[in-house]
Amino acid sequence: MKHLTILGSTGSIGTQTLEVVRAYREEFCITALAAGSNVSLMEEQIREFHPKKAVMWTKEAARELKERVKDLSIEIGVGMEGLLEISTMPETDVVLTAIVGMIGIRPTIAAIESKKTIALANKETLVTAGHIIMPLAKKAGVSILPVDSEHSAIFQSMNGEKKEQVSKILLTASGGPFRGKTREELSGMTVEDALRHPNWSMGKKITIDSSTLVNKGLEVMEAKWLFDVGLDRIQVVVHPQSIIHSMVEYADGAIIAQLGTPDMKLPIQYALFYPDRLPMEGERVDFYALSQITFEKPDEDTFRGLKLAYRAAAAGGSMPTVYNAANEKAVALFLDRKIGFLQIPEIIEMSMEHHKVIEAPDVEQILAAEAETYDYIMQRMEL
Ligand code: NAD
Ligand code: MG
Repeated sequence: MKHLTILGSTGSIGTQTLEVVRAYREEFCITALAAGSNVSLMEEQIREFHPKKAVMWTKEAARELKERVKDLSIEIGVGMEGLLEISTMPETDVVLTAIVGMIGIRPTIAAIESKKTIALANKETLVTAGHIIMPLAKKAGVSILPVDSEHSAIFQSMNGEKKEQVSKILLTASGGPFRGKTREELSGMTVEDALRHPNWSMGKKITIDSSTLVNKGLEVMEAKWLFDVGLDRIQVVVHPQSIIHSMVEYADGAIIAQLGTPDMKLPIQYALFYPDRLPMEGERVDFYALSQITFEKPDEDTFRGLKLAYRAAAAGGSMPTVYNAANEKAVALFLDRKIGFLQIPEIIEMSMEHHKVIEAPDVEQILAAEAETYDYIMQRMEL
């Protein structure tokens, strides 16, 4: 039996993880759950999965949850303290990180230090603190199993292969809802347009990130850390049908790929049962019905988010944090209808140009760079 803590249980990845758990009820014990503010869904999850502890980010949400579940013997925690506590519980084996944003850094580090296996969806953590997390996991002898579909595909395509013989990672991208559009067309795109992803149903922030190609940029950095490959060996390939989830090219020219219908439950289940493959219901790829699968080069001049990610990754140190923090702030402003779509990459670029790189930043310095980036944007945008 696997003892699982889920950080971000009420979100897109969190709820799909619980669907996998529901299908294999006898294989799992849910030790703890954490969420931001969705008290009613958390209550339902507690009543169904009986965790020992549950954490809400805000005090009000924690108070309300406590009141709602007072008939149960469950501990309710709050904030970062609560997240750290449930990431290090002695009874937990696996911590699945499905929070959005850099809030995941400290709980992930704490979980690794407590020798938990990490099933990682929260890519922002690796993008900003990969230089701390990867060596720490190695030292602790802890596995970091990717949940992100592309990284799971790469991981599956490397199974049994020698890492030194990898020549290239081919990271596929759907291109998002605005593929093929010009800058002029993009300038008028609304929040609703950007939230209409052609293939995947995901949380709001990552859906916007897919429409700007920032998500792919973050995934390039995530791949660099997870698989220890140079940026020059990570190539993004646009593949609008999202059937090939990513590929790995080897020294002899062979390319190994993982294919499947777009369903996050597969990478989630693979991470939870690795190295086993267990039955999973769902649609299968029908090669007779699939008339074609196509590929293109990403349009990095129109979707500057990707180019800026390579630039941030090449600068290294604290620059990926600034890239990520500026994007988080810009996406929040876009969702609030305070800025236009094309201002998202502009804000990222402006923030990166303003920043002086700190080499190998520690967690405090990463969080300080995040806060400084937020302040700088608010001040520049006069908000
Ligand atoms: P989401 O917005 O649907 O869910 C986020 C979850 O985190 C919610 O449960 C929310 O309550 C919780 N949360 C937010 N802030 C919190 C805080 N401060 N403390 C505690 N809990 C908090 O997001 P998502 O789409 O599930 O994405 C989660 C992560 O997984 C992101 O890093 C995203 O990039 C990554 N990811 C998502 C998908 C996908 O298909 N959704 C695919 C690959 C990677
Ligand atoms: Mg992905």
